[in-house]
Amino acid sequence: MKKALYGLPEEVRFCTRCVISNQRPGSVVEFKNTGKEPKPTIKFDDEGVCSACRFAEIKENKIDWDLRKKELLELCDWHRSKDGSYDCVVPGSGGKDSVFTAHVLREQYGMNPLTVTWAPHIYTEVGWRNMQNWMRCGFDNMLFTPDAKVHRLLTRLAFENLCHPFQPFIIGQRLIGPRIAALYGIPLIFYGENQAEYGNDIEANDKPTMDPQFFMEEPDLDSLVLGGVLARELVDRYGISINDLNPYLPVQPDRLKKINAEMHYLSYYIKWDPQENYYYASEHCDFEANTMRTEGSYSKYSSIDDRIDPLHYFTTLAKFGIGRATYDAAQEIRNGKITREEGVSLVHRYDTEFPSKDFREITEYMGITEDRFWEVIDAARSPHLWEKVDGDWKLRHQVQNLSI
Ligand SMILES: [Zn+2]
Repeated sequence: MKKALYGLPEEVRFCTRCVISNQRPGSVVEFKNTGKEPKPTIKFDDEGVCSACRFAEIKENKIDWDLRKKELLELCDWHRSKDGSYDCVVPGSGGKDSVFTAHVLREQYGMNPLTVTWAPHIYTEVGWRNMQNWMRCGFDNMLFTPDAKVHRLLTRLAFENLCHPFQPFIIGQRLIGPRIAALYGIPLIFYGENQAEYGNDIEANDKPTMDPQFFMEEPDLDSLVLGGVLARELVDRYGISINDLNPYLPVQPDRLKKINAEMHYLSYYIKWDPQENYYYASEHCDFEANTMRTEGSYSKYSSIDDRIDPLHYFTTLAKFGIGRATYDAAQEIRNGKITREEGVSLVHRYDTEFPSKDFREITEYMGITEDRFWEVIDAARSPHLWEKVDGDWKLRHQVQNLSI
C-alpha cells in the first residue's frame, strides 16, 4: 500500500451505481480545516453503493414530497410579509440553483426574497450576464465584493497551504447570507441544496435546517484558520487588519439570536435535481448555459460564473483523484440523466483535463509563478492515487465499467 495523504482510505473503491470513489471527502468544516486532519469520506455500504446514491433512492421512493411542500407552505405562511417587504434572504450567484430557489419562493409561495451574492474571484462573461438576467427577472440583489487585495492574498495562501484556493470564497459565501439577514433583521434564510445530497453526512438530509453553529461561533483570532494560516498570524505577519478579516469571521451570534434566524435548505422541501433547475431557470429567468463545455468536464450549465472554478476541481483531482467530470457525472447518474456507462466514458475523456484557458489569469490573480503552481499541485498528489510514468503523472485507479 502506498501512503495516503489527508487521512484518505488507502484502498480506492468506486461506487457500483455512480462513478464517485471512496476518496471523496465527507462533511468538512472548511472553517477550521487546516488540511492536516484526517477527512471523513463518503460512506460505502456492503453492496459497494455510496451514501449519495442511497439517498437518491430515498428521494425517489421514500420521501413524501407533497407533505414536504405543505411543510414549506407552513413555514412561508409564518414568515411572509404582508406589505411586500423582504421576508427571506436567498444567497446565491445567479446560477441555476439560486435562480430556481428565489423564483420558486416568490412565484409558488408568495415570498419576497432579497438575493445576496458573494462575488466570484473573476467573473466569466456568461456568469455576469446571468447575474443581470436574475435581476431582470425582478429580484433585488446585494452584491458583496470583498477587498481584492485581501481576498487574493487569502486565495493564494489557501492554494499554497491547503491546495484549496476556494476555501476563503466558500467561507465568505457561506457567511454573507446570514450577515445580511442580521443586518436587515430578516430571520429566514434559504439555501438551495444541502451538500449532504452529494455524500456528506447523509443523516443531515433528514432535517430542513443548517446547523447554526457555523455562524454562531464567537470570532476568535487564536483558533480561526484562513488559508491554512491562523487569523492571529495573518494580522501579525501579513499586514492584514482585524477589520479586513471581518467578511470571513462568523456573524455575531447575538444578532442572529435576536432575530431568531433560521437557515433552511429548499432541497429538504422540494426534490432537488440540478439539470431540472437549469431548465427551470432558463425558462423563467433567461438563465444561459455556456456555449462550450467546462474544462475538465462535459457540462455546460453548472458553476460557470467564476474563471477560477475549473482550477478548484483540478485541485480535487490532485488531492482525491476526483475531477470535475466525476462530480458532474455522479450527480447526473443519480438523477437518472445518464447511465453509469456513459458516466465512465465521460470521466475517462475529461476528468484529468488541465484547465488551460484561464490559467495565466488565475496565476496572476493569485500572484504565483507557473513553476510554483506545479510545485503545489504535485506536492498535493497523494502517492496512493498518483504515479509517475515516463515523466507524466498518471492516476493509479480510474472508474471502470462493471464486469458482467
Ligand atoms: Zn454512488
